[in-house]
Amino acid sequence: MPTQVIVTDIEGTTTPIAFVKQALFPYARRRIAAFVVEHAEDPEIRAQLDALSRLENRALTSRQAGALLERWIDQDRKATPLKILEGMIWRQGYLDGELQGQVYPDVPPALRAWRAKGLRCYVYSSGSIEAQQLLFGHTPYGDLRECFDGYFDTRIGAKRETQAYRRIAETSGVPPQAILFLSDTADELTAARAAGLEVCQLLRAEDGTVPAAGFPHARDFAGISVGSAN
Ligand SMILES: [Mg+2]
Repeated sequence: MPTQVIVTDIEGTTTPIAFVKQALFPYARRRIAAFVVEHAEDPEIRAQLDALSRLENRALTSRQAGALLERWIDQDRKATPLKILEGMIWRQGYLDGELQGQVYPDVPPALRAWRAKGLRCYVYSSGSIEAQQLLFGHTPYGDLRECFDGYFDTRIGAKRETQAYRRIAETSGVPPQAILFLSDTADELTAARAAGLEVCQLLRAEDGTVPAAGFPHARDFAGISVGSAN
C-alpha cells in the first residue's frame, strides 16, 4: 500500500537528543528560581505556585518555591506544576530568541519534498504539543510548522503502547499500512508495527543509536524510502 502519512518522533529522530538534555533542561534550570520570584504575581504562575504549596502541604514563599523547583529538576521529578513552569520558561525563551529548536539539516528538505508529493506529515512525541510547536516554530531553518498537518503527544497514548498507534491511524483517517512511523527507539517501532504501521528506524550517528534487529533503517531523512504506488 502506498504511504500517505508520515509520523515522526522528535528526540533522536528529527532532533539531537543532546538538545533536550543539554540545552532545554539546563535553560529552565538556570532560570526557574528567578522566574517564579519575578512573576509571582502573574496569575498563571501564581496558580502553579499554589499547586506546589498544596503538594508540599505548606504555604511556600516564591523563594522557597524556586529552591524546591531547582531541587526537583535535579532529581528529575515529573510533578505537574514543575512541568508547566518549565514549559512557560521555554515559551518565553523561544519568543525572546534565546532558544532555537534544533533539527538535523536533512529534516526540512525531506519534509518539504514529502509534502510536495502529497504526503501528510505528523509529529508524535512525549513532549507536549505546545513544546513540539515551539520547537518546530523556531528553528535555524525557519518556522517548520507549515510542514506538519498535526501533532500528537501522550494524550493519545504512551509511545510504547500499540493502542496509541491505532488511535493515530484512526485520527489521520488512513489505514495503518499507509502510515510510515519514524523513530530511533526499538520499543516504539515494535508497538507501531504491531498496530500495522510501516516503520523505519533512524540511526543518528550523533545520538549513537543502536540498530534494532528486524527493522528497516536510515541514517538521515534523505535515506528514508517511502512506499509509493508502484
Ligand atoms: Mg526518540
